[in-house]
Amino acid sequence: MSQRIKLVHPRDQITEIISRIYKRGMTTTSGGNISIIDDEGNIWVTPSAIDKGSIRPSDIICVKKDGAVIGKHKPSSEFPFHKAIYEARPDIRSVIHAHPPALVSFSIVRKIPNTNIISQAKHICGPIGYATYELPGSEQLGEVIADEFKKGYKAIIMENHGTVLGGSDLSDAFQRFETLEFCARTILYGSQIGTPNYLTDAQIDEFEAQVPSMIPEMEKPEHPSDELEKRLEICKIVQRACQQGLMISSYGTVSMRWRNNDFLISPTNVNRWDMDIEDIVQIKDGKREKGKTPSRATWIHEEIYKRNPNVNSIIMTQPPYLMSFGVTKTHLNVRTIPESWIFLQDIATVKYGDHFKTNKTSEFLNNCTTALIIENDSVMITGDKLLQTFDYLEVAEFSAKSIVLGNSLGKMVPINDDQVEDLRKKFLS
Ligand SMILES: [Zn+2]
Repeated sequence: MSQRIKLVHPRDQITEIISRIYKRGMTTTSGGNISIIDDEGNIWVTPSAIDKGSIRPSDIICVKKDGAVIGKHKPSSEFPFHKAIYEARPDIRSVIHAHPPALVSFSIVRKIPNTNIISQAKHICGPIGYATYELPGSEQLGEVIADEFKKGYKAIIMENHGTVLGGSDLSDAFQRFETLEFCARTILYGSQIGTPNYLTDAQIDEFEAQVPSMIPEMEKPEHPSDELEKRLEICKIVQRACQQGLMISSYGTVSMRWRNNDFLISPTNVNRWDMDIEDIVQIKDGKREKGKTPSRATWIHEEIYKRNPNVNSIIMTQPPYLMSFGVTKTHLNVRTIPESWIFLQDIATVKYGDHFKTNKTSEFLNNCTTALIIENDSVMITGDKLLQTFDYLEVAEFSAKSIVLGNSLGKMVPINDDQVEDLRKKFLS
């Protein structure tokens, strides 16, 4: 969470995040709770039995250090385990508990999702603990959860119940929560169409070792109005991608060509949901704006703009259905419906590692297709206008979703060669 959001009052932070979780389908109206412990040791927590879809800052409860309850409702019935976690772990300043469907799938078959499924998740989530079943709201539940946190975990699966995550602040906890649920979904969807492959720890270390800040800094950046316009456009698309479930807080890069081969790109290590115009980094003549850290993938964007004059915007992200293809090495046949083929034609696949800077000769940089999948990492979509590129992303994710969902009904029958030829003549020539 950026500094400016850390300074937001706990009750406003909690209200913002719980409604975000609700809108993204990761909690029900009644389920789930969030808390923050402030610097004085007071715990701010969501109330019991209040609609998560219309919660307001004035609904948030404060439980004082001496146990006094301030607010117009009762604190969450799961308050005992929030308190137990803060007592066990002074480094944890915020806790999220919910019953998001994919993690509950793991919890009811009594498994823990393997976060080596995508590049950044192991680092974001850390190792995952497991708390055995206890009665909701009981002191015993508090004890088994606190015992797992005492082992050093910041994320645990609760048997036949859900998940609980801690963080150094609420943004950190949310990022862990969203990323873990994303891993669970990707594994579940991937298992519908194939067998998920996991990265080795060495492959993940290679990803983490990429240092984006090595680009030299420019002296004094200029911000003409066409540059400022693009910053806002990038922020709006990032926000929209998060809201539509096409991007998660811990991963995703968006860039727009500005003048010649200069461009604007999203930063690294900023929660995507909270990205602001000031976070966007200008890249001019191979130099970055002073004091800012652009995405690790900046070199890919730079090479693509240089080698593909028709590409004016790029989105790299992790949408769950497309990623289910990316983690199972399953070919995504876009001959599902005319729209998909017209926009996407063929989706290429890039091997994990070929997207690291050490591989500047990678073929995908030269003639980049509209959509390509980087194994266990992301999906990259390129286009002219940013909104159009975003549309391609949506079309690709919808196609992937239809194939994953349709798989249990029967074998997909693609549009045939003659039909494709007709589409080519009518729409592409
Ligand atoms: Zn619960």
